[in-house]
Amino acid sequence: MRIDGEYVGHLNHITTRSGSCRRSARLLSAPIHVQGQSTRPPEALAEVKAPSLPYRKAKRRKVEETPLDVVLTPQAPHSTEDYREVLEDDEEKDLDFTPTAKPKRRRQPEADPVYVIADVEKKQTTFEGRLGYACLNTVLRNKKPATDSVFCSRTCRLDSLKKNGIEFVKDLGRKNVEDLLTIIQWNEDNNIRFFRLSSEMFPYASHGTYGYTLDYCSELLAKAGALANQYGHRLTTHPGQFTQLGSPKPLVVEAAVRELTYHCQMLDMMGMGPDSVMIIHGGGVYNDKPRTLERLKQSIMDLPLKVRQRLVLENDEMCYNAEDLLPVCEELDVPFVFDYHHDNLFPSSLSPATIIDRANVIFSRRGIKPKQHLSEPRPGAVTIMERRAHADRCENLPPDLPDDMDLMIEAKDKEQAVFYLYRMYDLQPVIHESLRPATENPSMHTNGRKSTKRARAKVLKEATVEDESE
Ligand SMILES: [Zn+2]
Repeated sequence: MRIDGEYVGHLNHITTRSGSCRRSARLLSAPIHVQGQSTRPPEALAEVKAPSLPYRKAKRRKVEETPLDVVLTPQAPHSTEDYREVLEDDEEKDLDFTPTAKPKRRRQPEADPVYVIADVEKKQTTFEGRLGYACLNTVLRNKKPATDSVFCSRTCRLDSLKKNGIEFVKDLGRKNVEDLLTIIQWNEDNNIRFFRLSSEMFPYASHGTYGYTLDYCSELLAKAGALANQYGHRLTTHPGQFTQLGSPKPLVVEAAVRELTYHCQMLDMMGMGPDSVMIIHGGGVYNDKPRTLERLKQSIMDLPLKVRQRLVLENDEMCYNAEDLLPVCEELDVPFVFDYHHDNLFPSSLSPATIIDRANVIFSRRGIKPKQHLSEPRPGAVTIMERRAHADRCENLPPDLPDDMDLMIEAKDKEQAVFYLYRMYDLQPVIHESLRPATENPSMHTNGRKSTKRARAKVLKEATVEDESE
């Protein structure tokens, strides 16, 4: 569609593949050209219509940027640079955005907001280790205009893959790695040297039918890894909850092995050392915990050596606590990551100090730097579902924390939660411009979704998953 010498972008609609993550997204794109060919049916280029009712509804919901005013020049590159993702509620996913005949005026860039950063209460610790955050940088992700947004979790629906082809999906992966370079540099500039890579870096890479190797992106991955290694950053991964090595279903185990292999290939291509581990949970119990643990052990022993060398198990809050997994880890020499929040919800008879001591024996035998996970339930959380969700920030470092180890802060405010602890405990200097204020009343904060009981429970459940393995 050509209007006054300009192409008006068309909309492509995608949703995250992970059922657990549930964030839906819209890709705003120019006509999609894959290897020089438009994947758009010709008729899609012909017609433009007035904004539909759902468009107004979406606008009311404060979608980050008006999606209809994407105006691309004929010279605009046909790459994922053109795509813009707008986060929305997943109930919006059936909205059909139609390009308008009257292109809306381009929104003027807003002036930089002024953030008021509250003082923090000063506390003492002997901890001297690194703090890290998982997958998403809120400062870079929320950059305006949305085309400047930096993030590593571009993904799409399976439908979109089938329609646009695998090259479209692989291009998303390439863009994710490009943005990873920016995030690594930002982390270095902000004294954060521990980061979890998004499992969505390469959408569908481990898919049974559509999976692909990462060879096409090896140079870029090596570049990102070299930057992280140059700065001494630790990069880890946390494959999703569907990575169930103890499942009684061979197909599920095969999928889990593929998922781990994909993560391992990504870390290998980046040239990351043994500290770049892949963390998974024990998974479901399938009505028989002892037998499931036996299957889990067998699956671990059957893993390709490279994959097994990066594997680490973590206690969860529902099925396997530290006491369940430590013996497996000790027997198979698989490091154990202790999660304080999960231990709080599903404690074992062992104290955190004992668990960490035993875990550290395995870490040191394997020559891997110990790491643990820290998060807190939201203020005012009472029920188990409410307590499962992670708080925006952590108010305390645990008293029994060893002085030197890496601590992954699994909090909603991501890098801001790290800065909060940096300031509270004087761990590292912070750049004031990188600070953002905390949400004023975070206890029942539900990302603007409908506040029905069911929706709230869903959001809380998703929040837990999202923080871990977005
Ligand atoms: Zn964790």
